[in-house]
Amino acid sequence: MKKTLKQLAAWLNEDVSVFGDTVVSGISIDTRTIQQGDLFVPFRGEHSNGHQFVNQAFEKGAGASLWQKDEPNPPEGVPLLFVDDPELALQEMARAYRNEHKATFIGITGSNGKTSTKDILAGTLAPFFKVQKTIGNFNNQLGLPITVLQLDEDTDVAVLEMGMSGFGEIEFLSKLARPHMTVITNIGEAHMQDLGSRAGIAKAKFEIIQGMQPDGLLFYDGDEPLLQELVAKESHLQSVPFGLDPSNLLYAENIHANADGSNFTTHGIIEGDFFISVLGKHQVKNTLVAMLISHKLGLSNEQIRTSLEHVVLTDMRMQQVQGSNGALFINDAYNAAPTSVKAAIQFMATSTIRPEKWLVLGDMLELGPNEQSFHEELAEHINEQEIDYICLFGPRMAHLYKVLKERFDAQRLLYVEDDYSAIIEKLKQANESSIVLLKGSRGMKLETVLKAFAL
Ligand code: ATP
Ligand code: MG
Repeated sequence: MKKTLKQLAAWLNEDVSVFGDTVVSGISIDTRTIQQGDLFVPFRGEHSNGHQFVNQAFEKGAGASLWQKDEPNPPEGVPLLFVDDPELALQEMARAYRNEHKATFIGITGSNGKTSTKDILAGTLAPFFKVQKTIGNFNNQLGLPITVLQLDEDTDVAVLEMGMSGFGEIEFLSKLARPHMTVITNIGEAHMQDLGSRAGIAKAKFEIIQGMQPDGLLFYDGDEPLLQELVAKESHLQSVPFGLDPSNLLYAENIHANADGSNFTTHGIIEGDFFISVLGKHQVKNTLVAMLISHKLGLSNEQIRTSLEHVVLTDMRMQQVQGSNGALFINDAYNAAPTSVKAAIQFMATSTIRPEKWLVLGDMLELGPNEQSFHEELAEHINEQEIDYICLFGPRMAHLYKVLKERFDAQRLLYVEDDYSAIIEKLKQANESSIVLLKGSRGMKLETVLKAFAL
């Protein structure tokens, strides 16, 4: 974005006096990462007040700053735009900029796989279009407007991740971004606490169609009955189900993992053999979304095939890392919820990359009152013929440990509540014939274990 303060003020129905011609060329809410020319947006939080950092923002090169009208002592001699509420102003500016932007907007939601899908899609399109995507996990009511305001004017495709923790949030984000295409990657169990049931979660994700363009297109996990039901109720919705089931309009089969990634065959809208450097059936499903949207944007199957071969994923999502003990680590420690843990266990169970298989699992957080059963139920997916060693980490994993210790002897099963070093010690036994999955919620920081085996 490149705008004068006067233009921003017009979007907000506010006035600027002397500094109207000042140009801002981006947006920042954090003086540690602010760039030359950015508009600084200060928020009043519970613990801190961003207005205290406005002077610092100017010292670091801010082009201008918002200022909440009832905040005392605004600095003088610097370009300030006075607003009633900086958060609302941020959203309003994003809305206005979105409305004049020519890019194709794509909104991605789902319980798991938003960031992965976003990265695979942006990577696939990158050789053909100017693509910008949500940076990191900036997917909420602040992150999304910031992402929109950071779009360059000549960007062709904006890939936006939309996250939520309750009803109404995805609708809000979708209405702001007014996407041409939307994606629901899957329905899991995260945020069960706030939404009551998986059906509630599906409904909340489905809000993404609320802000979609009238001729927009929804791509959804067609393996999920809850989404099928919701789609069936919308007679005017154009939608494309994807997944592993042959009933989908695009589905993948013959998924084979090797040390570099996954080979698979697709049928339906796109027919052919493909490769992507990610692991796990769930990541192949995310890849199907990238293929469908690329197809819709005019890429040939051949272009999609070559492009997929070069895509690189964000760290800590089924990322392969060679350990100093010789083992191949699959670092999936970015986050964990029941669906994604099951998907990862299933990947390990069927993988033929290395013969000796290790699971290092950390607590799944934010699961609400049923967290005990969610942890226990994982046992049903762990087969003692398929998995060789299991290390469990965190107080909630004690529930899984109680079930597994009936089946696994002490040599093969380790439980620790809060001690990474015991897990590191155990992992010293892993070697060239081992593959080790690291998976747990963000708060468990299981990647700490990997540091001990850095090459
Ligand atoms: P967040 O809500 O934290 O932003 P996200 O939806 O962006 O999460 P990712 O960061 O892409 O999701 O992946 C989170 C975890 O879910 C990873 O461990 C990944 O391997 C797993 N995962 C990715 N895609 C899927 C999927 N389609 N189904 C199940 N699990 C998945
Ligand atoms: Mg994410």
